[in-house]
Amino acid sequence: MDNKVTVDGLTFVPYITRDKIDREVKRVASELRADLKGASPLFLCVLNGAFMFAADLVREVGINDAHINFVKYSSYEGTSTTGKVKEIMGLTEDIEGMDVVVVEDIVDTGLTASMMVADLKKRNPRSIRFVTLLHKPESSKTGFQPDYVAFSIPPRFIIGYGLDLDGKARNLRDIYVIDED
Ligand code: 5GP
Repeated sequence: MDNKVTVDGLTFVPYITRDKIDREVKRVASELRADLKGASPLFLCVLNGAFMFAADLVREVGINDAHINFVKYSSYEGTSTTGKVKEIMGLTEDIEGMDVVVVEDIVDTGLTASMMVADLKKRNPRSIRFVTLLHKPESSKTGFQPDYVAFSIPPRFIIGYGLDLDGKARNLRDIYVIDED
């Protein structure tokens, strides 16, 4: 695993290795596979941050009938939330009667997640499951509880494996945490 990385003058240290990510992706995928038995789900990848997790997860779940689509919201500027969630790219597809699996990178305050789930419910899917790579339970402002969590972490800013700092560092294979020393 690489050592420290610097992005926009901020230093990040290794936090979750790619091996650990692989293990937890496999665990969550096998839980989903069992729970979705017989279903033809729609995976909704929340851009941009979840693209890498979603790519690994859907391949690992391995349901060939599954559909994959993308939505986009934004709430962060730099390393902190603005508290307002913007829908940048909405869902055009009809999801009535479908088993929807939302794939998110991280649930922090829970604002994005609860807004998204409320919006999806209005479109009458058969079920909604919410999967997140990372969850910061201590940051919750909504009490939102994801159905599947790969990693629960304390409220520190992280990058890598799809997660960015102002658009950068999404390419990193491992997850890094901001160095507070
Ligand atoms: P929430 O609406 O739950 O407060 O925030 C969700 C979004 O905030 C995530 O999809 C992600 O884009 C961003 N976010 C929250 N915490 C972090 C973090 O530690 N690192 C990065 N890169 N983005 C974060």
